[in-house]
Amino acid sequence: MSRAVIHDAIMLFEYSTTAKGGRGPVGKWPGLIIKRLWALYKASEIGFVRQKSDSTRGSWDPGQPFINLQVNPHYINSLPENRRLPAISLVLVHEGVHAALDFLNDNSLYSELAARKVAVYYYRELSGPGVFNEASDPPAPGKRAELVLLPRNAFPEYVKMSGFLDKDQLIDYILHNPEYTDPHYLTPQWIVETLSLWGGLRNRWATSKGLYVKVLASSRDPHYESFILGVMESIDHQKGWDVMIEHAGSLRTIRIALSDLTSWHDHERIASLEKKWRVKLTEDPPYRCKPHSASPCSR
Ligand SMILES: [Zn+2]
Repeated sequence: MSRAVIHDAIMLFEYSTTAKGGRGPVGKWPGLIIKRLWALYKASEIGFVRQKSDSTRGSWDPGQPFINLQVNPHYINSLPENRRLPAISLVLVHEGVHAALDFLNDNSLYSELAARKVAVYYYRELSGPGVFNEASDPPAPGKRAELVLLPRNAFPEYVKMSGFLDKDQLIDYILHNPEYTDPHYLTPQWIVETLSLWGGLRNRWATSKGLYVKVLASSRDPHYESFILGVMESIDHQKGWDVMIEHAGSLRTIRIALSDLTSWHDHERIASLEKKWRVKLTEDPPYRCKPHSASPCSR
C-alpha cells in the first residue's frame, strides 16, 4: 500500500464534519489530531507494518525506532477494496488520538476511551451521511469524485461501540478486553477516581464491577479497600452478583481486604451484604487475630 493512501485517509478525516469539532475542550480534539497526523506523515512516521496479532488494526508507540504510528496491512487487505480508505482513516484517527492527546496520559484508559469515542463519531458520519473524498476532487482521468459512504453495519465492532457509547458503557466494553485490565491500565486510583463517571456504578457491567473488586482487594490499602463495599452494594440481582464474583478473583483475597475495614459502619454494611447474598465476606476468625488471645485484634 502506498504513502498516497495515508495522505488521502488523513484528508478524508480533515474534511469530515466530525473534524470540525465543537465547543468545549473535547471539541478541540479533532483539530489537534489532524495537526499531529500531518506532522507524523511529513516525518514519515506513519506506515503499514504487520502487527504481532492479525486482529490488531494499528498501534501508536513513540518509542519505535521507525514508524511510530503503524497500520496493519493484514487487516486492511482483508477488507473489500471500497472499505479500505475509510478503514485506514479510522485507524489513523484512533491512533492519532493516542499520539495527539498526551495530556490524557498516553496508554491510560482515558486515552483509550477518547480514541474510541472520536473514532465512533467519525464512523457514525461515514456510515450515515458519508464523507466527501476531497482527494478524489478533481477526479483522475476516467474516475469520479466520490462520497465515502459505508453501509451502516460495515464494521460491526464500531456498531457495537456506538451502541455502548450511547448507553455510557464504552468503558465496560473496553474493560471486557483482557488487554486493558492489566495493572498498567486498571489501577485502584483510576477506579476510585472514575466511580461516579459514565452513569456511576449502577451503569457498570457486572464484569467491570468484578474487576474493580479484584483490583481494590489486592491493593491491600484500606483507603481503596473501603470502596469494595460501594461496588458490591450497587448490585441488585443474583445474576449480577454471581457474574461480579466470577470476575473478582480469589474470595479469600476479598475476605482479607474486608477484614482490613475497622469501622462499625463498615461492619454493618458487610453483615448486610452477607445476609442479602448468603455469602461469607470476612475471615473467621479475622486472619490477623491470634487464636484465644484476650486482647482485641490488633492492627
Ligand atoms: Zn487505542
